[in-house]
Amino acid sequence: MATSGRSAIIVGAGIGGLATALALQNTGWKVHIIERSGSTAGPGTGLSLLPNGTAALERLGVLREFERVSVPVHGGTLDLDGRPIMAWDQEEVSSRYGRPIRTVHRADLMSLLAGALAVNTVHRGLPVVRFEPGAPTSTVTLENGGQQSAELVVGADGLHSVVRKGLIGGPAPRSSGITAFRAICPSPDQGAGNLPWGETWGPGAVFGITPLSGNRIYWYGTISNEEFRTSSLPTLKAMALDRFGHWNQGIAQVIRQTPEEAVMAHELFDRKPEPVWSGRSATLVGDAAHPMLPFLGQGACQALEDAVALADALAAHGSVREGLLAYDAERVPRTSRIVNRSRTMGRLAQLERPGLRKMRDTVLRLIPRQLRLKQLDSVLGPSAS
Ligand SMILES: Cc1cc2nc3c(=O)[nH]c(=O)nc-3n(C[C@H](O)[C@H](O)[C@H](O)COP(=O)(O)OP(=O)(O)OC[C@H]3O[C@@H](n4cnc5c(N)ncnc54)[C@H](O)[C@@H]3O)c2cc1C
Repeated sequence: MATSGRSAIIVGAGIGGLATALALQNTGWKVHIIERSGSTAGPGTGLSLLPNGTAALERLGVLREFERVSVPVHGGTLDLDGRPIMAWDQEEVSSRYGRPIRTVHRADLMSLLAGALAVNTVHRGLPVVRFEPGAPTSTVTLENGGQQSAELVVGADGLHSVVRKGLIGGPAPRSSGITAFRAICPSPDQGAGNLPWGETWGPGAVFGITPLSGNRIYWYGTISNEEFRTSSLPTLKAMALDRFGHWNQGIAQVIRQTPEEAVMAHELFDRKPEPVWSGRSATLVGDAAHPMLPFLGQGACQALEDAVALADALAAHGSVREGLLAYDAERVPRTSRIVNRSRTMGRLAQLERPGLRKMRDTVLRLIPRQLRLKQLDSVLGPSAS
């Protein structure tokens, strides 16, 4: 791994790491990604990319490829009777933000980002066990004992980031008290039109269904950790069917046709926003910097924005240090607001008590559609800040 010249090491080849590598290579950096996993297969789940995420992909030069592997979605939030709580359609979203919301298989997004990189950028099967910030270079230590230094090290190593620990320390991720089920299944041959597309909000739980390319469906459901831990059902599929199947026949149909091994469940975490991410020759992107709850669909979108903003800031400033200061100044306030807003949205979506849910639904239905979208301008607008 040659790291001479204007060169960077990125730890982690998730969406954030791959996008950052591409953004830096596009502006002339030599980049090496060090990834602990030996496998190129991305996680088997779906992802919604909102207009701001897609705008970042356009800046990265991969919009066409993205459009080929993703599909536009209609959406909104429904109550248990299938009545809209917050409806929107793609025409409204597209006319306001210049592009629709699209869903994609994560593996497809990761593979198109990886495919746009210079050959031999990603080095797999190499867990990083320690990070030491410094100047003019920072250093990562690999599990195999090897060490690599560069004038720029980017921690793109996710929620439990080793780079973050060495760079800014701080408390452990905070639990949301929520567990999410996720799965991909084939689209039904008949009756797909009757599925409750979008997100259904039930008592203390949420269930979402979105289409994916290749005649597939991505679904997810969230429940409290307590409920998840105390379930006596033998499989994740049985738990999901028991919790959500009676909400709606379409939901039951989608869960039933999902292979048992395709259902996964994870506890959801975020972190309290920190005022600084960068050192003199190192910084963070994506979940390493600002893990957030998924209720605004912004985690990956913000990782893509980080990638573009970091490359722009470094290109606009003479030294890495100045570039990193500008990157923090642009990204920390915006992502901190979105972390907090995602948490609030999660609380709202997971309300349990019938009276509170009824009040929430009534208030949300009273907000005019245009005003509702306007409230998202600061998140979804391509040049939002
Ligand atoms: C249930 C759920 C639904 C979501 N839905 C959406 C959505 O619809 N839209 C959206 O925009 N976002 C969504 N997100 C958020 C999104 O998935 C994440 O924000 C995004 O994947 C973060 O990417 P990342 O590259 O920063 O981190 P990760 O995807 O976690 O990647 C980190 C990479 O670093 C590697 N790594 C970790 N430690 C080391 C180490 N020590 N050494 C070397 N490599 C290491 C890992 O193997 C991994 O490849 C969702 C999240 C969840 C949990």
